[in-house]
Parts: sequence; structure tokens; C-alpha cells
Amino acid sequence: MSSGDIKDALPANIKSGFVALAGRPNVGKSTLLNLLVGEKVSITSPRPQTTRNRVMGIMTRSGIQVVFMDTPGIMRERSRLNKFMINQSLKAGMECDLLIFMTDAERPNYDSDRYALERLGGKKVPRLLLINKIDAVKKPELLAQIAELIKIAQFDEVFPISARTGEGVEAMVSKMVEYLPEGPQFYPAEMKTDQPERFYIGEIIREKAFRALQQELPYSTAVAIELVEDRENGATYIMGSIFVERDSQKGIVIGKGGSMLKKIGTMAREELEFRFGAKVFLELRVKVKEKWTVNPASLGDLGYVDKE
Ligand code: GDP
Ligand code: MG
Repeated sequence: MSSGDIKDALPANIKSGFVALAGRPNVGKSTLLNLLVGEKVSITSPRPQTTRNRVMGIMTRSGIQVVFMDTPGIMRERSRLNKFMINQSLKAGMECDLLIFMTDAERPNYDSDRYALERLGGKKVPRLLLINKIDAVKKPELLAQIAELIKIAQFDEVFPISARTGEGVEAMVSKMVEYLPEGPQFYPAEMKTDQPERFYIGEIIREKAFRALQQELPYSTAVAIELVEDRENGATYIMGSIFVERDSQKGIVIGKGGSMLKKIGTMAREELEFRFGAKVFLELRVKVKEKWTVNPASLGDLGYVDKE
């Protein structure tokens, strides 16, 4: 076999690369990622900080593969957990082929944007500014915001978009692809995320808990999946624990006579069954893990460890 034959056997070069999605919490990064990937790979919530670890979402189209890293928002850190999350974001911002910086047109905050951009450091890769939630503001307001934002940092392109309605998103994608290098297809086309299954299941349960409890649940709530087992009858058996920080929170998550936990479990099970296309048995417990947001050992137990 000549080298020419080998080359012919390899997939043709396509436009491919890694793109970091950065910005303050709650600007809509996860919403955009899910839209681009066409599947829910990252949880979204009206409350900030629902994205913990960085989540990879893979968008594959004909001749294009973009691996997005959805990152927790960059803001001034307080707890150890926040520090961990921010380091993840900064790393993603530094290890990418292109950086998307997203802001929220509905709630502009130039000081926070400036802070996040400073933390991301000087411009090393192409940088796009996405002003999201344009469905919620008027044009003149938007123009004023663009004028302010381009004073803060240098961007190669500016795109007003709505991750909710999809407005402006395709135009942004076409331009973004122009900035990406030629490269291999890193992942199979069917692969939408690199997250291990357990993490994904945990995120679905955590999202349902947030939806069911809204303001009552602190964002420090974590879910650990202890067991995922395919049974012979075709069903999947999943056992997980919801970790809260205090006894009082445990009571809230369990609810009167277990009603709240049952509600969370039912919502999660329905989504898991839909996703797996199989019957799911879900057993959930609530455990108190005191001060786990500041205890490095328990952070490790729950999978929030910085490997480097
Ligand atoms: P993240 O923290 O940056 O990942 O933000 P999320 O994707 O979790 O979104 C935060 C909130 O903003 C959620 O309630 C979303 O539904 C909402 N949101 C996201 N994109 C848009 C948008 O284009 N328009 C409007 N009006 N709301 C949006
Ligand atoms: Mg998010």
C-alpha cells in the first residue's frame, strides 16, 4: 500500500476545532449550546451557576465539526467550588481555537463583562462577541450596548442573537466556521457530548430538582449517581443521591411525606426513559454533606476535582 492509498483512506480534512463559550453566569451559554448541538447536553436554568463542570457539546455538519466547551460563568469567586468552576472556564478559554464571549442584552453589566474578559487574558485566538437575548430588547438599546462592549475588548465579529428564538444564530455559525482551522473529524458524527453517562444522568436529576424547588434549592446541591445497571428485562436501574448542605434543606427536598422527592424522581425518570428509550427504575435518596462546597475532600468525592 502506498502512502497515497493511506491518505485516501483517511477522512477528508474538514473545518474543525474547539470553541469555548465564555461569559457571565446566566447569559444563555447553555441554551445556545443545546440549540447548536440539537440536543440537551447542558442544563439551563433561570438561576445562575447551573453548569458545574465544563460540558462539551459536539456539532457535526457536512464538512464541519465544532466541539464547544460550555463553561461555568466567570465572576468574582467566593467559595472553593466557585474557584474550581472558574478555573475550568479559564482553562477552556485558553485551550481553544476560537473564543465566544456572550453577554446578556436584557441585563447588561459592563463591569462584570470587563472583569471576565480581563481574566481571559489577551486575545490569542479569534474572538466573537455574542449579544444574546435580543428578543427581549429594542434595537436602539442594542446598538448602545454594542458601542459600550467594543470599547472593553477587541472582537473579530459581533453578533446580536437570540439563543431562545434562534435569530442570528445561523449567520454567526457560518462566520465562526470561517475562522476555524482545517482539521480532522475528532468525534463520530452521532456523538453529541463527551460527558460520561453518569454525569449526564446526574445533571438531569439536578435540573429536575431545580425546576421543582426553584428558589428553595441552593446551587450547591449536587447529585451523585451510584449505580447504573441494565437489567435482563430491558429496564435500566439507576440509584442516585441528592446532596444538600443542611438538615433543613434535606427536609425541603424530601417534602411532606416524601412528596417533593417523588415529584423530582418522576420528572427525572420520565426524561431518562425518553432519552434511553427504555424503562427506568430510579431510586433517589437525599443526603446531607455538610459544607461540601468548602471541603476539598468532599469536592473530590463528588467528581468536582481539578485533575491538573
Ligand atoms: P448560562 O448560565 O450562561 O449557561 O445561561 P442559561 O443557558 O442557563 O440561560 C439562563 C437563562 O436565560 C434561562 O432562563 C434561559 O431560558 C434564558 N435565556 C437564554 N437565552 C435566551 C434568549 O435568547 N432570550 C431570552 N429572553 N432568554 C434566554
Ligand atoms: Mg450554563
